[in-house]
Amino acid sequence: MRTSNLIASPSRREKTLQNHTIADLIEDTVVNLLRLAVTKLPQDVKEALQKAYREEVNETARVQLETILKNIELAEKDNTPICQDTGVIIFYIKAGAQTKGLDKIESALRNATKKATKEIPLRPNAVDPFTQKNTGDNTGRFIPYVNWEITTGDTIEITAFPKGGGSENVCQVGMITPGEGVKGLKKFVIDAVIKAGAKPCPPTIVGVAVGGGADIAMKLAKMALLRPLGQPNPNSELAKIESELYEAANSTGIGPMGLGGKCTVLGVNIEYAHRHPASFPVAVAFQCWAARRATARIYADGRVDYLTHVVK
Ligand code: SF4
Repeated sequence: MRTSNLIASPSRREKTLQNHTIADLIEDTVVNLLRLAVTKLPQDVKEALQKAYREEVNETARVQLETILKNIELAEKDNTPICQDTGVIIFYIKAGAQTKGLDKIESALRNATKKATKEIPLRPNAVDPFTQKNTGDNTGRFIPYVNWEITTGDTIEITAFPKGGGSENVCQVGMITPGEGVKGLKKFVIDAVIKAGAKPCPPTIVGVAVGGGADIAMKLAKMALLRPLGQPNPNSELAKIESELYEAANSTGIGPMGLGGKCTVLGVNIEYAHRHPASFPVAVAFQCWAARRATARIYADGRVDYLTHVVK
């Protein structure tokens, strides 16, 4: 984590905030976040892939993991995107209710997305579903998509989450009967992993959510993908189910890039909401091995902390 000191003294602070509005600060930070996200995987993902390589015995799977690790290393070294598909851009915002300029955030995110698309560059991935026209700048109706959470205080935490198409195409939401319960949930998840096969570029991270409604379950399943690998669920019962699903998914033999092997998933993260007595919604969201996310916290005085990456 690194703090970027935009201001050094009170007198300079006044001047800096005048010259550097909150919208500019958010825009610059978000361009950095998008660059970090698409060129450097978070440490927990890199470590999980390295561990998978060390433990893999299947020769084809080892070659796949070695290629993935080499790819990550080269992207990091050359500052180029890890994958040609730089995804649809999604943001998660935790904004303190006392933050000034809350109304400027969405336009700053759009501007940053356009700028990042040109500068990094990102592949333009926003297509009108009816006319098939690509906007060319990764913005469009509801895109980038912004998930809001209002918190206390006066800081803004922004997570950039570029989501690739291959892993998105196999996400599933469904309704099981309440009587099927946890047993039905486990079956639903493993069926989804088997059905997905090679399509989401395994090894994947699997986000699972139960409850709420169809829309809430999928939103929570995606949000579950933000939890770093190696951090078990704080609820011990759910941690146990996560571990069982992890073992079961890895016993399918799908393996890296679907070519066979021990490692099909790097982790399974569960979220939940309370449910209607008559409903048992289940959602499964997949994240490919290129599990890109980058988070920064912006303080009221203009400081920026990058929380997921070391910024030199
Ligand atoms: S699923 Fe992920 S790794 Fe595969 S092509 Fe899409 S973005 Fe790239």
